[in-house]
Amino acid sequence: MTGSPIWHPFTQHGLREPIPQVARAQGAVLQLETGEEILDGISSWWVTTHGHAHPRIAAAIAEQAAKLDQIIFAGWTHEPAERLAAGLRAIMPDSLTRVFFSDSGSTSVEVALKMALGYWLHRGERRSRIVVMDNGYHGDTIGTMSVGARGAFNRAYEPLLFDVASIPFPHAGGGQATLDALEQACRGGAAAFIVEPLIAGAGGMLVYDAATLAEMRRICAAHGTLFIADEVMTGWGRTGTLLACHQAGIEPDILCLSKGLTGGAVPLAVTMASEPIYRAHYSEDRGDMFFHSSSYTANPVACAAALANLAIWEEEPVMERIDRLSAGQSARLGALQDHPLECNARTLGTIAAFDVGDAQGYLSDLAPRMLAMFRERGVLLRPLGNTVYVMPPYCIEEGQLDAIYAAIRVVLDEVGRLD
Ligand SMILES: *Cc1c(COP(=O)(O)O)cnc(C)c1O
Repeated sequence: MTGSPIWHPFTQHGLREPIPQVARAQGAVLQLETGEEILDGISSWWVTTHGHAHPRIAAAIAEQAAKLDQIIFAGWTHEPAERLAAGLRAIMPDSLTRVFFSDSGSTSVEVALKMALGYWLHRGERRSRIVVMDNGYHGDTIGTMSVGARGAFNRAYEPLLFDVASIPFPHAGGGQATLDALEQACRGGAAAFIVEPLIAGAGGMLVYDAATLAEMRRICAAHGTLFIADEVMTGWGRTGTLLACHQAGIEPDILCLSKGLTGGAVPLAVTMASEPIYRAHYSEDRGDMFFHSSSYTANPVACAAALANLAIWEEEPVMERIDRLSAGQSARLGALQDHPLECNARTLGTIAAFDVGDAQGYLSDLAPRMLAMFRERGVLLRPLGNTVYVMPPYCIEEGQLDAIYAAIRVVLDEVGRLD
């Protein structure tokens, strides 16, 4: 064996593609060991909201690490977790009265699914079917792969994935078919419906309208099917509002949050649940408790980072930055519309996306090729298939956003010449 022993995620080492080593990061800029600077156009995989190394978050982490680094959370508690849970209660939908901690988006979804099944068990009704939407992504664990889109990335694990009922993605004009399928699944006694509100992220940055989201919520409520909003990516302002659910005026029964919860600095997740779900597990019988924990549940250092994130939201002009970025994204994507390869341009809040050409098949290796082209031009963008998207930290400056779009134009020209 030569070189690094590291086995990287979503990386085919056999292609021997270069793996840049990052030394530091500040705001929207990554600095490599070589000194080269790279613009972070995807918020380091959708997590960094206020920018890298935000001084308040960094200070909160240092301070908490020196005070209380870690403590068992089963039967014990600590101030950062208590303050964070209260802070979340204050800004998240009213009906979500309970906060369960975990460590990643995937675990927050696993917890949501387990809560839903526990709810039905304790109510004495054995509902276990989960309804999902096509093109969904909820994580890479066995449970979250089961409720996500099936494909090459989970082919090997297919025999272990549980059965779900799936409804079509509500592409423009196709909302009714989605709603009819949901109605039918719910009528059959589904335990829960899990969905990414307003945008399927990993599924290709596919957007759908708030009216459809509101209607899906209404259908679930009418049949008692629990509505799980996976806002792991969409939460914390990404779609232009604190939660994507806000744009549809809805409150879910269960809400999953992670990525931007700590501003993207350290891993932490929460699954927030409504009182009836908590009450279903509440009794004097230990056998009814919610059987889930992980070693680092509500790690104090991570909670302190999340508290700093809440303070930033409260005290800094975060919404203004989001509005400015959203407008900047729309304008620049619009300006790119003269390019013959830019198809299906779409924006949602701070997210901008388009497809490169409309023939997906032959372009299958386009994503890694474009990634390398962007990387050569000092930009971190990681296309999903033939979908290029830009999702920067909210602190990105106009000039930096210009540089990202200039790189996109050059790369599109280059891709055009490859034809
Ligand atoms: C990223 C993501 C997850 C998984 O989060 P991890 O922290 O990577 O486990 C789940 N759901 C959605 C919608 C995501 O975008």
